[in-house]
Amino acid sequence: MKIRGLTRTFGGRRVVDDVSLSVMPGQVTCLLGPSGCGKSTTLRMIAGVENPEAGEVRVDGQVVCDRTVRVPPEARSIGLMFQDFALFPHLDVARNVGFGLSGSRAEVRARVAELLERVGMSDHIDAYPHELSGGEQQRVALARAIAPRPRVMLMDEPFSGLDDRLRDDIRDETLDVLKQEGTAVLLVTHEPAEAMRMADEIALMRDGRIVQHGAPYNVYNAPADLAAAAFFSDIN
Ligand code: ADP
Ligand code: MG
Repeated sequence: MKIRGLTRTFGGRRVVDDVSLSVMPGQVTCLLGPSGCGKSTTLRMIAGVENPEAGEVRVDGQVVCDRTVRVPPEARSIGLMFQDFALFPHLDVARNVGFGLSGSRAEVRARVAELLERVGMSDHIDAYPHELSGGEQQRVALARAIAPRPRVMLMDEPFSGLDDRLRDDIRDETLDVLKQEGTAVLLVTHEPAEAMRMADEIALMRDGRIVQHGAPYNVYNAPADLAAAAFFSDIN
């Protein structure tokens, strides 16, 4: 997935200003920056639920958004995981995961079984969301998100609602699954420690712009400026 020059203004202020980055299949890029710097707006434009004023988005080399092309969100092969992920409360696990899938009933059932196996939830196939813990619901949400085999997964701090131990486990498992599937992952976070741990590449964002981009080790050891250094300093 490649974005180039994405720009969006709200009330005369450029909240996303000429943002470019790319994520390779099976890799995790962390979009890291303080609250309000424009991370979620960037993700929404990539997903297609917000229109950029300028810039383009490509998935597997195909333009899904530029000055003339606007592929609708559901046709972009982009999956989403947000913090307030919601399973359908009135559907059991199998139907939650199979919800958006096409194919014969047998094909859908087989794919759902495979996905639940992948996320370690096979024993809960008939459960309803209220019968599951937060971590179990998160696993089901992951299975649902990857069910249509999106080429790109956009994650907007999806783990911040979970307590610390559980969060680390779920986060590691989730990214393992996505890497195995060869999905390009763009993970938004405001926590340097999380980016250092999860990212193959970090894109450091401030005031709507990418101020630094590189491998975690390089960004941490050679911050682009004083503000970047200060932002990373609360890791220790
Ligand atoms: P982040 O996710 O990094 O916290 P956001 O992308 O949510 O940042 O927001 C960036 C800035 O844009 C914030 O100042 C926010 O208030 C503003 N903003 C976001 N969406 C809108 C909107 N729909 N209308 C007006 N301002 C918005
Ligand atoms: Mg946000």
